Amino acid sequence: MKFIGAHVSAAGGVDQAVLRAHDLEASAFALFTKNQRQWHAAPLSNKTITAFRQHCEKYNYSSAQILPHDSYLINLGHPEADALQKSRLAFIDEMTRCQQLGLSLLNFHPGSHLNKLNISACLSRIAESINIAIDKTQDVIAVIENTAGQGSNLGYQFEQLAEIIYQVEDKSRVGICLDTCHAFAAGYDLTTEQACKTTFAEFEHIVGFQYLRGMHLNDAKSHLGSRVDRHHSLGEGNIGKTAFCYIMRDPRFDNIPLILETINPDIWKQEIAWLKAQQII
Ligand SMILES: [Zn+2]
Ligand SMILES: [Zn+2]
Repeated sequence: MKFIGAHVSAAGGVDQAVLRAHDLEASAFALFTKNQRQWHAAPLSNKTITAFRQHCEKYNYSSAQILPHDSYLINLGHPEADALQKSRLAFIDEMTRCQQLGLSLLNFHPGSHLNKLNISACLSRIAESINIAIDKTQDVIAVIENTAGQGSNLGYQFEQLAEIIYQVEDKSRVGICLDTCHAFAAGYDLTTEQACKTTFAEFEHIVGFQYLRGMHLNDAKSHLGSRVDRHHSLGEGNIGKTAFCYIMRDPRFDNIPLILETINPDIWKQEIAWLKAQQII
């Protein structure tokens, strides 16, 4: 079964995100469990936690259909000790919030070396950050997102994702979220069926579909291999519709949240309906 949705706003409380997903007729959703541009947030109140869980139950969202995203401020590969520690504590807090909400996944961008650390040292630092967070929390899976490779962001090559996983001790608590826009910008072609076949075969070979825990379905304003992260609405960008039809018809993408982060929320409902319709061959 395909779980399809969008990254909805949690304005007014995380419980409100559930209602927004339901309004979109989505069978999955993503959200921030705190303001993504601030370091600190008040702990989740029991009232909010209860409301979130009740809404999820009422509208049939299980934890397998929900992909929370962490704050953009966190850099688990930060080259400086103090900033790294701040990021690690914030990440543990994000994992804890997910745990409190009964969620099983936490999606995050691996980290950036900021030109002060070599790639392999930064990847090790990211893996160590994940090991620490796993040790300090229960149940939640750390879901690493592939990046476009903009600036000094790591995780743009499947080999880098595989290296992080290799260094994570508890493999049952680590996974991958593939963002189609990021993959394309990083040089993985998705414009034709054959290109999709090749790209996903490479993913299978280097990382393995057993680690795939979610997808971000975004078309790209940026070009193949440009390392520029610019999303577009489905079918409007340089990837085009073929990749999204391909994903909808491939059972390797079943039972994981497939999340739109496309640029026009006004058409998310139509985009979700269109994706659902592509499942029928
Ligand atoms: Zn994404
Ligand atoms: Zn992006």
